[in-house]
Amino acid sequence: MIRATTTPAASRLQLWLTQTWLTLGAAVLAAGFLQAGAHAAARANFISAHGQKPLALALEPVPPANGIKTLVWQGQDVDGDGAPDFVNPTGQAPRTEDAYGYGAFGASRDGGVRKHEGVDFVAEAGQDVAAPISGYVTKIGAAYADDRNLKFVEVTNPAIGYVARVFYIDPTVVEGDVVRLGQAIGKAHGLQARYPGGMTDHVHLELMGPDQKRMDATAVLTERYVTRFGA
Ligand SMILES: [Zn+2]
Repeated sequence: MIRATTTPAASRLQLWLTQTWLTLGAAVLAAGFLQAGAHAAARANFISAHGQKPLALALEPVPPANGIKTLVWQGQDVDGDGAPDFVNPTGQAPRTEDAYGYGAFGASRDGGVRKHEGVDFVAEAGQDVAAPISGYVTKIGAAYADDRNLKFVEVTNPAIGYVARVFYIDPTVVEGDVVRLGQAIGKAHGLQARYPGGMTDHVHLELMGPDQKRMDATAVLTERYVTRFGA
């Protein structure tokens, strides 16, 4: 009905308008393609300038379905025999902040008057405590002169030149015993009686290296993830 009532002049105008719009549309499309091309070129430059990084991230290995990632403590091999020479005495992480401060080596004590000379590994009272190094039990002593309940076990290993003192344990070894790395040397003694109101139960480990100075045990005991398989 519209076409039938349209005059030839109006029809030409309509044709011209259609052509104009088509031309404009083509121009817009062409510009769009040009811009997209420029973006693609820029992206290509970016990728080539940054090597394979984005690709490497995308290809990060996926753990097998039957593998469970477990946090373990890895002892350093200082004598180069291919086996670790240190074991975390409790298997737990160092004590973080609690009502009595931090358990890290060098943490402030007595309002900054002295520094913490060991590393506190979190423990459950009564748990087995492992020998952090292999060696001889060279001393069993009292942690505090006024407290007979809190003891330490000293293990000396002349072969690697390290001495370890493991505090706040009820020893199951005696002086002169030979202990193997990781072997139980006692049970963790709860600290709530000595330090009431917010102390994390822990084992205090002092480690002396070949230079006879107390050192940070986390320098030779580090955390890492391993994937375990099986049922
Ligand atoms: Zn401590």
